[in-house]
Amino acid sequence: MKRYGQILLFLLVVIATSALSTGLAAQRICDGDAAVTTTFAVAFHVATRDEPRTLAHIEAILSEANRQFAGAGIEFRMSQQRMLAESFQVMETIRERHQVKPGLVDRVINVVVVDEIQDPTPSKATRKAAAAQGRKPSGRLAGAHIPAPRKKPDTYILLASNGKPDTLAHELGHFFGLPHHRDPQNVMSYGRDRKSFNEHQLAVIRKKARLIQRRHIVNFTNRCTDR
Ligand SMILES: [Zn+2]
Repeated sequence: MKRYGQILLFLLVVIATSALSTGLAAQRICDGDAAVTTTFAVAFHVATRDEPRTLAHIEAILSEANRQFAGAGIEFRMSQQRMLAESFQVMETIRERHQVKPGLVDRVINVVVVDEIQDPTPSKATRKAAAAQGRKPSGRLAGAHIPAPRKKPDTYILLASNGKPDTLAHELGHFFGLPHHRDPQNVMSYGRDRKSFNEHQLAVIRKKARLIQRRHIVNFTNRCTDR
């Protein structure tokens, strides 16, 4: 019985030590004038007709997201790219959006890029956004942030391959806990001239990023960078 007690104690020490080192890595203070930049892993799942064009688009949306999140000390790097079945190129139903879930990769931010996301039953938010611009919902989505219960992380991002360069930054904003914003120049708005996150949003993103690191929801690396 005593031996089991020793083994249990040993395991507890191991768990406590690894939890501590993860926490320290997340909060490590860099020397002197340097700041911590955290890089999160992103997996792209692609179902598009024009693959070279899609790859160029992915580069563009990644670099725009990195530009927008730099203020929060965060960047994103593609960890892998997977091809999806052709049947996903045009997503006609909500059911199809959920059919990609079994292929989602654990502990990365999953981004699914398809040619067209049809929206047969626009959400309240979509109807409101269209009404604000004096239009009806177009029946197509540029992007969506979708729950994936029991997965880690428990949401994924769906993007249309013809979207604007800032669509990934917007959906990543949702991933890091941000709701929509009224200012048409804010990344989290529905505006056509979105420019940046505000300071409050960057603080929310930083807080969520620390939580994601502490719970190891997404693979990450930390490095020191000159301010
Ligand atoms: Zn949104």
